[in-house]
Amino acid sequence: MEFIKTAIEPVTASEKAYYFIFLKNDILVKESATTLAEIPCLGEKSLAALAVTEPCFLGRIKERVCYCAQILPGKVPEPYKFINLRSLYGKIENGFWRIAGYARQINDWNMNFTFCGRCGAKTQRKKDEYARACPRCRLVSYPRISPAIITAVIKDDKILLARGINFPNKKMFSVLAGFVEPGEALESCVAREVFEEAGIMIKQIRYFNSQSWPFPDSLMIGFTAVYDSGRLSINPRELIEADWFTADNLPLVPGKQTIAGELIDWFVRQQLMKNSTS
Ligand SMILES: [Zn+2]
Repeated sequence: MEFIKTAIEPVTASEKAYYFIFLKNDILVKESATTLAEIPCLGEKSLAALAVTEPCFLGRIKERVCYCAQILPGKVPEPYKFINLRSLYGKIENGFWRIAGYARQINDWNMNFTFCGRCGAKTQRKKDEYARACPRCRLVSYPRISPAIITAVIKDDKILLARGINFPNKKMFSVLAGFVEPGEALESCVAREVFEEAGIMIKQIRYFNSQSWPFPDSLMIGFTAVYDSGRLSINPRELIEADWFTADNLPLVPGKQTIAGELIDWFVRQQLMKNSTS
């Protein structure tokens, strides 16, 4: 699906537009028993019935324009329904799921920076970029992106996986992750996080790839690393348990739509290759 991101709203818009409408972590979708869920495509009249905040322009899917907005808690008319954005994966076309993640971040920024963080005056949205400017002190606020590292640590034929205290699914194991601190390089962050959470030192820290993770505003930067020294000992404020797992004995792990799932899949493929050549 071709989605063109732009903050510049066209002068003449299509009659109906896609609306990515949020309520906290949930997004409004049109549900049917037989097909995938859809992002509502609304004309002005049906939008008015939903009582949303002033929509913020997002871009275009072909000729159809896209907006995000926030709705007040209350009843929504059939066939609309709120679904948690994270759990919407697989229940909607993948292209729309990705745009919904982007829409959520733009909407959060638009709502959270209504007032200036420095002087408290009401901000104004700029028309040519995603920026809210303060008319009094001139502070400009952009959508927030919080960089976080995520890393697969390998020891011989095993991968380090852990159950985090804050995981939505308490049975799920995943690779270690953590937020980048001010003044920190990504590789230093990887080493620090692994040491803080699991008590071990690592080496050969290599970039893997990255993924936008809009829950609420992370940019996940993936790495692979190799165990160097130390004994595995978890930080109980971060993890419930951690252990080394072989590729043929993995616990419940995240799906491949996540970078965590991609890293674990990379490890499994590496092991398969090794086994086929040995
Ligand atoms: Zn200000």
